[in-house]
Amino acid sequence: MTQKIAVLPGDGIGPEIVTEAIKVLEYLNADMNLGLEFEHGLIGGAAYDATKLPFPDATIDLVKQADAVLLGAVGGYKWESLDIAVRPEKGLLGLRSELQLFSNLRPAILYPQLAGASTLKPEVVAGLDIMIVRELTGGIYFGQPRGVRVLENGEKQGYNTLVYSESEIRRIGHSAFKIAQKRNKRLCSVDKANVLECTELWREIMTEISTEYPDVELSHMYVDNASMQLVRAPKQFDTMVTTNMFGDILSDTASMLTGSIGMLPSASLDVDGKGMYEPIHGSAPDIAGQGIANPLATILSAAMMMRYTFNQASVADRIEQAVNMALDANVRTTDIYSEGMQKVSTSEMGDAVVSALQSGEK
Ligand code: NAD
Repeated sequence: MTQKIAVLPGDGIGPEIVTEAIKVLEYLNADMNLGLEFEHGLIGGAAYDATKLPFPDATIDLVKQADAVLLGAVGGYKWESLDIAVRPEKGLLGLRSELQLFSNLRPAILYPQLAGASTLKPEVVAGLDIMIVRELTGGIYFGQPRGVRVLENGEKQGYNTLVYSESEIRRIGHSAFKIAQKRNKRLCSVDKANVLECTELWREIMTEISTEYPDVELSHMYVDNASMQLVRAPKQFDTMVTTNMFGDILSDTASMLTGSIGMLPSASLDVDGKGMYEPIHGSAPDIAGQGIANPLATILSAAMMMRYTFNQASVADRIEQAVNMALDANVRTTDIYSEGMQKVSTSEMGDAVVSALQSGEK
């Protein structure tokens, strides 16, 4: 069966890193007969330059028809003075809402070879492998009413609304339980049920749907404790699920435990598992065009695509294992370089992963 991947390189280092991820997928496509087809499209500043829109109709059609989307990054100095409605970042927001990507997966993985890059002690973080599932389209970032009003006494008052309907909680809950089933089958739901009624409902629904996943062990944790535990003993976590705002904060904390922004992939899924896959970092305009960007976050995003949209766990395992082998071979891009290692370019790192695939076991 053919699987169509929409490839949106975007801006800055986007095209350089996406080329390497495609190199890896093309190799596996030929080696394992995966039936992958790639079609390129424009997004962000590159799309604005060509069409005056950051998310043009042709790209909308492309992503709707595709089974999955691989994205580089968007944005850069060149487009910073544009009207906010046509800035590159709007392209990304448009993509998320067009595909109704409500479930955001942010893994924090620390390869033992890079444990020295973390600000935490190596023994606390080496081998870390957490998945944070963040609800992406609801909660306080979207709740109504919102705004700044003037009170009768003339004082200004800012207000936002934290709101989650039962169906929204169920939807993200099922997504998270299914992800936990593909991992170590432990799910920690993070809320503030002792103070916020909305997340009391969150806890109630998570508990209720847990009966449908008897193989997954569900626990609950208040967000303040979760943020503390993430830096105290992060390896206690397997999969975490939480609201939009708590997930925003906790996933950034978790990603920084690893200390290497160029290594972290992400996924955003819809209700059927169709997804958009991208590195967590931006377009890095400071190093764009120099051939020194780390492509591993994008290559690992391709692995997530295999696991979560195409249900090809063995292909995902092969890619992740090959990244590990490349690190074992001591090749490093500048961002993860340390003394004694071999410094390589973006494309040499892609090549190292492909040679690891060639020499690794299927
Ligand atoms: P950034 O993530 O692009 O860069 C932060 C720092 O990390 C820079 O020093 C950069 O050189 C380095 N870096 C990032 N990725 C790297 C990689 N793969 N290899 C080596 N080094 C890497 O964040 P920023 O500088 O705040 O933002 C730059 C632009 O990216 C802005 O226009 C911003 O809006 C955009 N952005 C886009 C996304 C996205 O597309 N999802 C996310 C964040 C920021």
